[in-house]
Amino acid sequence: MNLVHHVADAAAERGEAPALVYDGQETSYEAFWTRTGRFAAGLAEREIGAGDRVAIYLPNLPQFVTAFHGTLRAGGVVVPMNPQYKRRELRHLLGDSGAKAVVTLPDLVQHVDAVREETDVEAVVTVGEGDGDVRFEAFLADETRPIADRADEDVAVQPYTSGTTGTPKGVLLTHHNLAWDANASTNPIPDGIRPTDRHLGVLPLFHIYGMTVTMNATLFDGGSYYPLPAWDAEAAASLIEEAELTLVHAVPAMYNDLAGLPEDTKFDLSSIRFANSGGSGLPEEVRRAFEERFDVELHEGYGLTETSPVTHANHAGERRPGSIGRPLDGVSARIVDDAFDERPPVERGPVEEGSVDLDEITGELVVAGPNVMTGYYERPEANAEAFTEADGKRWFHTGDISYADEDGFFFVVDRKKHMINTAGYNVYPREVEELLFEHPAVADAAVVGIPDERRNETVKAFIVPEPDADATPEDVREYCLERLAAYKHPREVEFVEELPRTTTGKVQKFHLESRD
Ligand code: AMP
Repeated sequence: MNLVHHVADAAAERGEAPALVYDGQETSYEAFWTRTGRFAAGLAEREIGAGDRVAIYLPNLPQFVTAFHGTLRAGGVVVPMNPQYKRRELRHLLGDSGAKAVVTLPDLVQHVDAVREETDVEAVVTVGEGDGDVRFEAFLADETRPIADRADEDVAVQPYTSGTTGTPKGVLLTHHNLAWDANASTNPIPDGIRPTDRHLGVLPLFHIYGMTVTMNATLFDGGSYYPLPAWDAEAAASLIEEAELTLVHAVPAMYNDLAGLPEDTKFDLSSIRFANSGGSGLPEEVRRAFEERFDVELHEGYGLTETSPVTHANHAGERRPGSIGRPLDGVSARIVDDAFDERPPVERGPVEEGSVDLDEITGELVVAGPNVMTGYYERPEANAEAFTEADGKRWFHTGDISYADEDGFFFVVDRKKHMINTAGYNVYPREVEELLFEHPAVADAAVVGIPDERRNETVKAFIVPEPDADATPEDVREYCLERLAAYKHPREVEFVEELPRTTTGKVQKFHLESRD
């Protein structure tokens, strides 16, 4: 079934209620649903339909939401693209996906134009006046188009991810993958999403976390979605307070920014009834600081682009700080060693630093379930590596080193590829980062391995110091050495102004590794 049927049902029931609220302007369900039908008809007029790729290269704007559901309504496949991408990335994504149309901002048209001849792009639709073939409002046809028939296993969205290695690969997510995960992702919220809920839309929509957990989950259940095109902690806090938003999904770096807002900015965020962090590990200190400041409980969840994304979550009322939570009902998860033998769970997590040898209890997290992608687009080798068939299930390798406990909670230690090997010892940067966040002078931190002739790799910490901090890099090094096994402490500490992060909050460690 075409996943937009879920939105159609909500639209039929909710008519006048606001589906989208952007910059104070409300778009009702009825108006939104009509616009998606007109967008679908606009595609049909250009003979773009079943299975055709439509790239959406926009920040979070109402037009993203319309183009997304309009494309699916026409039977097409959405290729979401980060609006920070430039010519090089576009050449790869547009070329690989064979996108026939691009929906973008006038300022970004130059990047499409630079590679257009090498692609199959037939129409460039712009939100606003400027270059491009046709403006968004003119692209919308006068009539609407009914929902195209799609099978559960037909591809709906093809986001790109680097996964564990190599150039970005297209991830084939079906209508069923995405509809299942949007519905299941609301289970941790008390009563799920209610029509009265107002959901902060700051997670980028080109990324699966924002797409499924904020946009689709809200629109399936008749809530209101509040898109915000860029991250600004003060603007987000103001919006939450003024519009009395009830649901917040964000990444750890955003919660860190909110917790670090100047003391004299007094925001009341008590309208939030459920807050969740995902996309990367939530440092314990960030959770504590956010909760203390705003008196709002922060739950952690986990997932990947390849799993639509959510596989694990902490449910309200039964969360375990430090854990990514339990697998969603319907998702199977295991911790396996290199031979695919299951690692036994520890009694109760999280284990304390230094109490066990992590190498003894951890393995790779593998998952199976209705939200797992069909595969990478035209990448037979990557697909062969990504899956293992066992016990009647097709297990997807997440690339995340993890362990589980007897209560069914899972704990992510770090990504396999981020592990540092120093003089034969394995160091997981996350463990060192957790400690660094506890240091009063540290506002943000990232740990990487840098090449070292003697030790193979050396642990190096990049620190963003608090504005009024008087600690030196040497103080931070000493602090770690006193509290960690010597081989884990950062032999090098560098203070920087900011860390290179993706819009989904992940530190781009390759930039730090290659700085020296
Ligand atoms: P992406 O495909 O961009 O969604 O990235 C997926 C990756 O993000 C996972 O493989 C993890 O490495 C990381 N990730 C997501 N959520 C968490 C979490 N709660 N804790 C630790 N890592 C996470």
